[in-house]
Amino acid sequence: METRTPIRSIAVLGAGTMGRGIAQVAAMAGYAVRLYDLNEEILDRAMKHIETTLDGGIRRGKVTEEEKKATLSAIEPTADFRHAVADADLVIEAAPEKLALKQEIFRSLDRSCPSETILATNTSSLSVKEIAEATRRPQAVLGMHFFNPPHIMKLVEVVRHDETAPEVVEVVLDVARRMKKEPIVVRDFPGFATSRLGVALGLEAMRMVEQGVASVEDIDRAMELGYNHPMGPLRLGDLVGLDVRLHIAEYLYEKLGSEVFRPPEILKRMVREGKLGKKTGQGFYRWEET
Ligand code: NAD
Repeated sequence: METRTPIRSIAVLGAGTMGRGIAQVAAMAGYAVRLYDLNEEILDRAMKHIETTLDGGIRRGKVTEEEKKATLSAIEPTADFRHAVADADLVIEAAPEKLALKQEIFRSLDRSCPSETILATNTSSLSVKEIAEATRRPQAVLGMHFFNPPHIMKLVEVVRHDETAPEVVEVVLDVARRMKKEPIVVRDFPGFATSRLGVALGLEAMRMVEQGVASVEDIDRAMELGYNHPMGPLRLGDLVGLDVRLHIAEYLYEKLGSEVFRPPEILKRMVREGKLGKKTGQGFYRWEET
């Protein structure tokens, strides 16, 4: 494969929680960004959200007025798919987590983008290979898994499947670093690195609650004080949402077949009872409304 020209323009597809944040960090890193979503209303909301986040950065002394202006003017919101991707060097897809939808998007990308455009997905759990198979350029497809909120969280999991070209991985690692992220390279395997380890710890902590090993607070404190985790696994589960945790556990149990991921009874019961964590006010902890 010939040497690639450096990445200058990035198209971000989906202007929701992740897409708007990814567009912001891409613009702050100096890339020309086109942010695509289905309609103007969603795009307006996303741009306002980015502006609010930048204002927060200014208040905390992390962003200057000039940087705010430059960032906002580097992002072009558009509801025109072809325009969004027509001259992108890199596309980062952050649409809803549905395989058929992502495959459809990647089929369209393959038709609409220049042949050298790299296509990345921000999927947190789907098989990157199955998404890549929707294109005629699987070697240029990989995962670029950001964490929420993208402007704060340092990690990017760069997910390569069997056919991803090593050169494409290198280009994307470089982009992630330019965005001031710390990328890791992970093979396309269910749960990548983060979900697999995080969910394993969270489920084991729940089994310990079931067995009465210690109180919820003390199990969390064990990891916070004994292992320097910023937050214990049960509190983290409450923040993520116990329904989301259960969903991922079921998925990993099915895909990996390991007892580690068999959803504990206590988790299934809490989800049945609508105790989903922070968003419903009750999980392993009681959450006051904020
Ligand atoms: P979201 O629902 O907040 O945003 C999705 C956006 O995609 C919406 O604005 C929606 O209008 C738009 N959309 C719908 N159909 C589209 C299409 N055909 N083309 C382009 N955009 C379309 O979702 P999110 O939380 O930002 O998640 C997006 C992706 O990022 C998912 O794959 C998710 O698994 C992954 N992810 C989420 C998080 C998180 O904490 N929320 C973290 C890491 C990765």
